[in-house]
Amino acid sequence: MMSFNDALREKQTFLREGEKRLLIDGQHVSAASGQTFTSINPATGRVIATVSDGDAVDIDRAVASARKAFEGPWSRFKPAERQALLLRLADVLDEHYEELASLDTLDMGAPLLRTRASRERAVGLIRYYAGLAMSIHGETIPNSVPGDIFSYTVKEPVGVVGAITPWNGPLTLALWKIGPALATGCTVVLKPAEQSPLSSLRLGELCLEAGLPPGVLNVVTGRGGAGAALAAHHDVDKIAFTGSTRVGQKIIEASAGNIKRLSLELGGKSPHIIFADADLDAAVPVAAMAVFANSGQICSAGTRLFVQEAVYDEFVEKVAAFGNALRVGDPADPDMQLGPLVSEQQLTRVAGYLRAGQDEGATLLGGGLPAGQSELSNGFFVRPTVFANVRDEMRIAREEIFGPVISALRFSDAANVIARANTSDFGLGGGVWTRSLATAQQVTRGLRTGSVWVNCYQAMDPAVPFGGYKMSGYGRESGREHVEEFLNTKAVWINA
Ligand code: NAP
Repeated sequence: MMSFNDALREKQTFLREGEKRLLIDGQHVSAASGQTFTSINPATGRVIATVSDGDAVDIDRAVASARKAFEGPWSRFKPAERQALLLRLADVLDEHYEELASLDTLDMGAPLLRTRASRERAVGLIRYYAGLAMSIHGETIPNSVPGDIFSYTVKEPVGVVGAITPWNGPLTLALWKIGPALATGCTVVLKPAEQSPLSSLRLGELCLEAGLPPGVLNVVTGRGGAGAALAAHHDVDKIAFTGSTRVGQKIIEASAGNIKRLSLELGGKSPHIIFADADLDAAVPVAAMAVFANSGQICSAGTRLFVQEAVYDEFVEKVAAFGNALRVGDPADPDMQLGPLVSEQQLTRVAGYLRAGQDEGATLLGGGLPAGQSELSNGFFVRPTVFANVRDEMRIAREEIFGPVISALRFSDAANVIARANTSDFGLGGGVWTRSLATAQQVTRGLRTGSVWVNCYQAMDPAVPFGGYKMSGYGRESGREHVEEFLNTKAVWINA
């Protein structure tokens, strides 16, 4: 019988048409070098598509196309026209959503259960930015200079945006950058991660179908060099980046040449804090899925699970039991809760942390690599893993693992846990579970993180800003602040 994975692949007409080429100025083109690379299905280890391997030459072509569109047809679009276009794009996305969700499942291994469930968020994001397209404006500002000089500000799009995305949420992370860029009147060169380029390429086609003029969105796939060329390009006005802190630092350096605007959504090692007075039954599944969802490949995953001493053993055992009961396997099987990691390289990395945790003396409560030959043996799978008795100085408590691995630490009181939570270089998310309003307020005030969730975790909404403190980056995605990231403010003085 055909596997779920093979059956899903069979249905993808997009994958039947040979090399997946770049999208530049509305045209599908191969890389100037003629080079290609293969995208691997992480559930099977088999090649899923051959993709054009763009480099600096292709980035140059794409940036020129984005510049031409910015100064040409796109600049003549009124706010209402940009809004109408975004609303049309949302409808087209909705119509093709199943195909896009399937591509992400095949390309990066996220279970269909998850990619399908992101439909509302993906389509809703574009509708949200459509809503903002007509409310972008400056201010009239009274001044005190002598005479009768009138002053006001106007908001102008920053220009050509390089959008660089990671592999862990290919479609939604691309939409999160395209939405505000189009709402403000910017044009885009999108560079998806080499591990999961397919949904971005298909999205480029759908944008054309929705009526976006050629050149407003260009998609350049490639390995490493394409992203670096985009970040350093002199005619790119802004880089909107999501990815690792290490690459974020390189982008800061590369941006110095023309003082680009940057927004950086980087890594995390988020604290998730459980007080003994919390509703523990409600907290167990949330604490588990705060890390195990998407096999741990989520930037804001609550990987440092701090549990108050009195309930530590009981709580951590329940989280481990919850993890052990999750269905891990073929992500194309609609009942499967967890799929593989994105690549063999990521599997090797996570396996290294599994060894490091044991070597440093943490207690492994189930999980780890699947044993021997099994239905999971060809893919890059790791079972949901909990380490107990973790201490702050261990690598598994400090470094971003980006796999389904919880590091459970004990704490005594609020002051103790806030201080320890803040020792991380990262500052992306944080959670606290308690029935005490005073404790909740003490922790929300104390944590140096861009989001804090109380008695919930990873709630997200297009209207609520998301982003990091410290080495988790700067700039915000979602909300009005996000749109500001794509705008310049011009002050105008008129001596009438
Ligand atoms: P990554 O290695 O930093 O890669 C991200 C993107 O940057 C890819 O498209 C990559 O292209 C590109 N790139 C690589 N080198 C570059 C360079 N020198 N200049 C410009 N671009 C370059 O990250 P990843 O491993 O794909 O994703 C995982 C990381 O993303 C984790 O650290 C996670 O926490 C973070 N993340 C953060 C958020 C957030 O909102 N804060 C959300 C999701 C993920 P190639 O694929 O061609 O190398």
